[in-house]
Amino acid sequence: MRPFSFLTPETLDEAISLHESHGKSARYIAGGTDVIVKIKEGKLAPQYLISLKRIVSRERPYLDAETGELHIGAFTTHRAIETSPLVQSRYPILHDAIKNIGSVQIRNVATIGGNLVNAVPSADGAIPLIALDGTAHIYGTKGKRTMALNRFFLGPGQCDLDSGEILTEIVIPPLAARTGGAYVKHGRREAMELPMLGVGVLLSLEEDMKTCAKARICLGVAAPTPFRPLSAEKYLVGQAVTEAHLAEAGQMAGEESKVRDSIRGVAWYRREMVGVLVKRMGLLALERARAQG
Ligand SMILES: Cc1cc2nc3c(=O)[nH]c(=O)nc-3n(C[C@H](O)[C@H](O)[C@H](O)COP(=O)(O)OP(=O)(O)OC[C@H]3O[C@@H](n4cnc5c(N)ncnc54)[C@H](O)[C@@H]3O)c2cc1C
Repeated sequence: MRPFSFLTPETLDEAISLHESHGKSARYIAGGTDVIVKIKEGKLAPQYLISLKRIVSRERPYLDAETGELHIGAFTTHRAIETSPLVQSRYPILHDAIKNIGSVQIRNVATIGGNLVNAVPSADGAIPLIALDGTAHIYGTKGKRTMALNRFFLGPGQCDLDSGEILTEIVIPPLAARTGGAYVKHGRREAMELPMLGVGVLLSLEEDMKTCAKARICLGVAAPTPFRPLSAEKYLVGQAVTEAHLAEAGQMAGEESKVRDSIRGVAWYRREMVGVLVKRMGLLALERARAQG
């Protein structure tokens, strides 16, 4: 492993100016669970690692009392999200996804920001946050900007950050009444392995507790980036949320997905499983929406 200098700025501006001075020879590091692996494998050889860990920020997700928005700082560890009573009670789709990332040792250090910026199609954190209509808050030399997380991913390993920009926060709009969601990571084992598929479904119900008012379906490893099958979502809206309608939506989602053959699974099986898992997560989302009342 080539030696590198480890820099520890305490503010966002300091981090950005260090990145500007060192240019391409510098790399940000948060938990380091991706960066250090890549350095060890010889895929990256930065001369400077700029740590984001000393930058002061909120350590746990919190609700803005005025707007009802959920804020999650980018430097928040998966473990802080997983153990948050707020996330456990109100955002089970996010809890489902985060609690199965790697191992508890990984979740203790790895951050949600690192998971998103790493931008692999299997990133477990991305799917629920897109289903929840999350927005990425970004800071760089040109100041602050925001963008819908749905547009943040450009391709495998690529996201819409300019050189030196830092992802600072993810903001989730207030949940509509009678909303429930669920996520499943499908693979040979649940943890410590990249999933063959990640499937998240979020449903909001009308007052009759049966009709779908809003549907979000987000798929991981079903396309080069996290992917929303829009025709399946549209099909569900205005329908009674039944097993048959969820099965139909699942089939549409499978057909719309851009699954490929890979060592973790063949395309036809993945497509079939999209159908099965959209239905299964839809039923769980329905149950959770009804429980929210
Ligand atoms: C054994 C093991 C198991 C794993 N299991 C899973 C799993 O089940 N599911 C899963 O999704 N992932 C898994 N991962 C991948 C990894 O742990 C996650 O993607 C993690 O969230 C990365 O966060 P980090 O803070 O460690 O990122 P880092 O390694 O610190 O950084 C990752 C990338 O993001 C950049 N970066 C980090 N934070 C920011 C920021 N705020 N702004 C701008 N750039 C930033 C870094 O420069 C780097 O390019 C696993 C990794 C290991 C080693």
